[in-house]
Amino acid sequence: MAGKINKVRVPMRERPVDERIKRFVEVPFGYSEDEAIMEASRCLQCPKPFCIEGCPVDINIPGFIKKIVEHKFDEAFFILKKDDAMPAATGRVCPQESQCEAKCVVGKVGDAINIGKLEAFAADWARKNGVKDTFEIVDKPQKIAIIGSGPSAISCAVDLRKMGYNITVFEALHKAGGVLQYGIPEFRLPRDLVDYELKYLEDLGVDLQLNVIIGLHRSFQEIKSEYDAVFLGTGAGAPRFMGIPGEELTGVYSANEFLIRVNLMKSYLFPEYDTPIKVGKHVAVIGSGNVAMDSARSSLRLGAKVSIIYRRTKSESPARAEELHHALDEGIEFMELVNPVRIHEKLNHVHGLEVIKMKLGEPDKSGRPRPIPIEGSEFILEDVDMVIEALGTLPNRLFLDRAPEINRNKWGILQVDENMKTNLDGVYAGGDAISGGATVIRALGEGRIAAKAIDEYLKK
Ligand SMILES: Cc1cc2nc3c(=O)[nH]c(=O)nc-3n(C[C@H](O)[C@H](O)[C@H](O)COP(=O)(O)OP(=O)(O)OC[C@H]3O[C@@H](n4cnc5c(N)ncnc54)[C@H](O)[C@@H]3O)c2cc1C
Repeated sequence: MAGKINKVRVPMRERPVDERIKRFVEVPFGYSEDEAIMEASRCLQCPKPFCIEGCPVDINIPGFIKKIVEHKFDEAFFILKKDDAMPAATGRVCPQESQCEAKCVVGKVGDAINIGKLEAFAADWARKNGVKDTFEIVDKPQKIAIIGSGPSAISCAVDLRKMGYNITVFEALHKAGGVLQYGIPEFRLPRDLVDYELKYLEDLGVDLQLNVIIGLHRSFQEIKSEYDAVFLGTGAGAPRFMGIPGEELTGVYSANEFLIRVNLMKSYLFPEYDTPIKVGKHVAVIGSGNVAMDSARSSLRLGAKVSIIYRRTKSESPARAEELHHALDEGIEFMELVNPVRIHEKLNHVHGLEVIKMKLGEPDKSGRPRPIPIEGSEFILEDVDMVIEALGTLPNRLFLDRAPEINRNKWGILQVDENMKTNLDGVYAGGDAISGGATVIRALGEGRIAAKAIDEYLKK
């Protein structure tokens, strides 16, 4: 059997570095039909497909791949869409290397099947060819309010609407999609395809109300009494800071603020959009997750020299392998085993970043080696004039403070049971609001679990 396995992945063609670092266009070109069929043909169609075990929403991975081999791209798309409301997005942003592809049997002897890129191929093909899945909805009388419009909210809304419930989604911002809209840059996730996948909500008859902040424009208590059930998909949009001297200076951003200005307010398209952003000559990005990579690669495209400052090493970086690879390819400096201790100033503006060298110790609670400061090893990166902190996020207090009756832990992370139910009857939650920050696919999965539980609750 092993002799017959094609161990080598069909390579993904990518936009050349010198071209892409000046623009916010997508980096991988995506598979052509022939390339997709060739890559899909490497799948062994295992009788016990471990790849599905690695997928938080249980996509029938061998099933959709088989349809690609058979040139039935529309059927491949229908299989994907059954369990995943946004396959074009998840195909691009899921950490496949630690999920489905990590379990791929071919991956034990060679390159795992490129499941993510095949998923994106099938979703893109359907969009380009106007293929949509069909549904028949039998309306039910109950009304459900969904707060937020990120991935957890979208999957919950889709499933509940298909069951026949009347759904209203309330979104604080002027565009729906959550992080997919305001956080992840266009060069990873083009907005036309996010908008297309969101249009599905409209097709289903979901009422999407933008520019409504629950807790400010309308109270949670009012929503709860008006609707038969509520889902909270409010995410975790509040940034964390290091707490070092100098963080109040001009030129220090949280990654969220920086990425919202760049992506949602389209500052990268200034002067076409009237929303300029000032980017430093040398930007230091603190952290090494996907958010840090997005901040670093956006700063680079806006003309800065960029250094990633990370207290561990590349091997411990939590970013997706593809993002780290692209960032390094694009010439971003990766400074390992250093941690900021002070931001220096000149005329109230960032003027140098002082860091301390670190060494790795025994694993900590995260399972990664603990970074330990090396006393007396401080030095200053003199020319740093802008700092972006990408250190994780927490749920926003604006909503939490106005809904004190919902149980949360000391960090504001909502507490739910295995069915995503909060302590309040009829109130469910999912996504980053219950994790503090995880992945798109996990959020989609939690939205689905909540939808099922809400249906059972309303049937009673
Ligand atoms: C820059 C960045 C890059 C990322 N990259 C990846 C990646 O590559 N792969 C991956 O899998 N994950 C990635 N993630 C994580 C992923 O995007 C999140 O885990 C996911 O989006 C969480 O989904 P959610 O349903 O909790 O909603 P979110 O996407 O967090 O959206 C929540 C929505 O709720 C709205 N809202 C909040 N409060 C209210 C209120 N009171 N009233 C009305 N609306 C409200 C917000 O405006 C927002 O639109 C990234 C995150 C960021 C920030």
